[in-house]
Amino acid sequence: MQRITLARRPSGQPVPEDFALQSAPIPSPGEGEVLIAVSHLSLDPYMRGRMDDVKSYAPSVGIGETMTGQGVGRVIASKADGFAEGDLVTGITGWASHAVLPGSELRKLPDGLQPSLALGVLGMPGFTAWVGLRKYADLKAGETLAVAAATGPVGSMVGQIAKAAGLRTIAIAGGDEKTKLATNHFGFDAAIDHRAHADARALRAALVEQAPDGVDVYWENVGGKVLEAVLPLMNVHGRIPLCGTISWYSGLDGDGTDRLPMLWRSVLVKRLRISGLIVFDHWDLFDEFLADIGPKVMAGKIAYLEDVAQGLEAAPEAFIGMLQGKNRGKQVVAI
Ligand code: NDP
Repeated sequence: MQRITLARRPSGQPVPEDFALQSAPIPSPGEGEVLIAVSHLSLDPYMRGRMDDVKSYAPSVGIGETMTGQGVGRVIASKADGFAEGDLVTGITGWASHAVLPGSELRKLPDGLQPSLALGVLGMPGFTAWVGLRKYADLKAGETLAVAAATGPVGSMVGQIAKAAGLRTIAIAGGDEKTKLATNHFGFDAAIDHRAHADARALRAALVEQAPDGVDVYWENVGGKVLEAVLPLMNVHGRIPLCGTISWYSGLDGDGTDRLPMLWRSVLVKRLRISGLIVFDHWDLFDEFLADIGPKVMAGKIAYLEDVAQGLEAAPEAFIGMLQGKNRGKQVVAI
């Protein structure tokens, strides 16, 4: 059998030398296990993350280990109940021609199924879109959804489910061919080529034309320039299912001082919930606040600090200084 191992950890974009092709004897299944001849292997963006030695929601691939990944194949030997030679199955086979896996870690597929479908539209990526929209998007007819990597298995499913739910769907995809695919094949209402726009501002201008009423749901697959372009267009109470940040998977551009990728990744891998907060949505609770906090401040149980600028003329400088963090405590102006 053959397998691809991780030869070394990539620096930035992976290069061929990061992988190694190896031959090995075909393994035999033990009790409860199944030997599979893999026919299709899924290559997914998350694998880039597994090549790095960083803590994540799944362990990284060790140097010299077979690259991780989902495969589909036929059972060629089985010592597991419920599996027989010839069964079509899927599981985490790794990047390998053959794999031995416990029966408990395999899923049987219907015999007539085109095997690769179990890795895409009927597999993990399609499901990701379906469940993510259901749980986090709160789709409403008449609203607008934007998604990048729009012709991939996740993005294309997102677009189609949203369209069926009555939303205006905007695809962001790389290149002329993909934008045409997005509208003609996947049925997006509009498609924008992110590669044709040099920066976020230009991309945003193109988006505004296609989303004149703003964006209600931004399905996040990519981060980077697209995120920067879309964020200002988000409508009040918009939703962002944060699914992937592929533009950052191979490291950061620039000087590495941008903390947004770190924040966005933490939201994703720790499934943090972020909601925008505008105080005027909550004035009805103000009296309750005063009743709770007022007495505590008066009793010295709550500390506070003020930075008092003297004279109205000092206000602009105080304001600018405050934006730069020069204030100590609550900036006020004593006129
Ligand atoms: P795709 O098949 O769509 O492949 C990735 C695509 O990303 C590329 O084709 C490219 O499309 C786009 N892309 C790459 N770099 C950039 C960039 N710098 N800016 C904008 N787009 C870029 O992938 P999938 O559909 O499998 O996955 C899509 C996203 O969903 C990924 O981020 C993936 O990690 C994530 N994911 C997350 C899951 C989860 O559980 N959270 C599960 C499954 C997927 P184009 O040429 O159109 O730009």
